[in-house]
Amino acid sequence: MLLLGSRLIRFTEGVNVTGIDWARFMMVKGFTRSSMSPQYDVIIVGARPAGASLAARLGQQGVRTLLLERASLPSLPAASSPIIYSPVMKLLDETGAKEAEYARGTARIRRVIGHSRAFSATIRLPMAHGRDYAYAIDRARFDAALFDHAAGFASVEARQHYAVTDLLWEDGRVVGVVGRTRGGQDEPIRARLVVGADGRFSLVARKVNAAESDVYDDYPTSLLYAYWRGVRPYDAGGPTAVAYEGGYGYGLLVMDSADGTTAVTVEGQPHLLEPGTLSAEERYLALVRSNPQIAARLDGAEMVTRVQGMKRIGNLYRQPGGPGWALVGDAYHQHDPLDGQGIFNALFSAKSLAWAIRYWLRREKTWPEALDWYDETVRIKTYGMYRRTLSSVRENLYSDRDVPGWALQGIRWVMEDPAMHDLMGKLLTRQIPPEVVTLSTPAVMLGAMLRGPLRDLGLGIRDWGLGSKAFPEK
Ligand SMILES: Cc1cc2nc3c(=O)[nH]c(=O)nc-3n(C[C@H](O)[C@H](O)[C@H](O)COP(=O)(O)OP(=O)(O)OC[C@H]3O[C@@H](n4cnc5c(N)ncnc54)[C@H](O)[C@@H]3O)c2cc1C
Repeated sequence: MLLLGSRLIRFTEGVNVTGIDWARFMMVKGFTRSSMSPQYDVIIVGARPAGASLAARLGQQGVRTLLLERASLPSLPAASSPIIYSPVMKLLDETGAKEAEYARGTARIRRVIGHSRAFSATIRLPMAHGRDYAYAIDRARFDAALFDHAAGFASVEARQHYAVTDLLWEDGRVVGVVGRTRGGQDEPIRARLVVGADGRFSLVARKVNAAESDVYDDYPTSLLYAYWRGVRPYDAGGPTAVAYEGGYGYGLLVMDSADGTTAVTVEGQPHLLEPGTLSAEERYLALVRSNPQIAARLDGAEMVTRVQGMKRIGNLYRQPGGPGWALVGDAYHQHDPLDGQGIFNALFSAKSLAWAIRYWLRREKTWPEALDWYDETVRIKTYGMYRRTLSSVRENLYSDRDVPGWALQGIRWVMEDPAMHDLMGKLLTRQIPPEVVTLSTPAVMLGAMLRGPLRDLGLGIRDWGLGSKAFPEK
């Protein structure tokens, strides 16, 4: 018996982008409401860090999951030249992903260095979760390793070059997706839950009209990057990630990455990075070579990828979910890349959503309760860092650089102070919340102002106050 009513399947915003009347299509094909029981518990749209790690966590629970990815992997995402710290690796350990796979051939970075005309500050990454190093990962390799790992779970079916084009609705609730393989026909697939892990420009978020909150666009940034081969090392002390001073409104980052390549990135106020009369590559090269130390390191090196980037990177949270749907990773929370926390946020939100789904499937929480729990746990973990990153963007890329000489001296004492390095190392590895850094900073600065002149006189006293566990400078 055909029970499909005209409201059974509707298309969001009244627009059927596929051009097919899916309600009619399914009637013609003989689907009934009873024969249309969900084929999967969860469909995940997008299979990079958030989608693949969510699928792996659901696979660990035996949840019937369909993981759909438009791209073919390995391939680079639209834009990303990332560094990951030990908390990211811990989240991946929990899913069973193998470091030897996702970080194959990638340099272990034990020092993060800030280098400017006023100071040179070396933060030695503290041991956390069994690691005292970070990786400037190759995203093509990293994402493919996470996808293959998720696809290995018995309850997970994973498809690449499969584009979701629309959502299926029933009585105001999302009940599946419409999608197709490359060159194939549109098909409907039903599930109890559809998760958008489809990045910043999420189709799922647009189709459900997800509300945005905590949007900050007062200090926008854009970013350009490329990978190079043959870049001269910072020094003889092993791989590094070095943040260099740029001109007013931009900064530069040089990180040793995979297979002997080096990522060279410039981030700054959008108007400085927009091509204008120059091409994106010419603009990029002019900016990276504006710093003499980087120009010297690039002498004789070869750029081995094209220049890529992102304009006006957004900062926001979205509604975490609604009837039959949820968002995860960048689709849910976007965070300026200045502090390199995006992949952590993606993996942590996937962890939290996997728990929320578990509570819901086991009827320990209703779906609205599970969503509230998901939103709350992610915000507790991410909101402080979000605000701190936004402050860093303002201070580093938008504040006046015309600093008098005496103030530069003070900045040097603070930035070269071991207690400050200790705090920053713990912040990067998330051993302390950003609020602690904010609260401790006045005391550390005061201590630094006392220790700095003594250091200059060769009378270094490193163990005062918060510096008691500081790592030695290089
Ligand atoms: C320039 C730049 C530098 C960055 N640097 C860092 C850093 O140093 N450290 C860090 O931790 N983070 C960094 N980030 C952030 C990090 O890249 C993101 O937070 C992370 O990629 C988010 O992962 P995701 O899985 O949510 O989304 P994405 O990685 O964007 O993946 C989304 C996937 O969804 C797929 N998709 C989209 N639509 C569909 C569809 N309709 N059907 C099927 N599939 C679809 C896409 O093909 C894509 O593969 C940076 C970001 C940028 C832009």
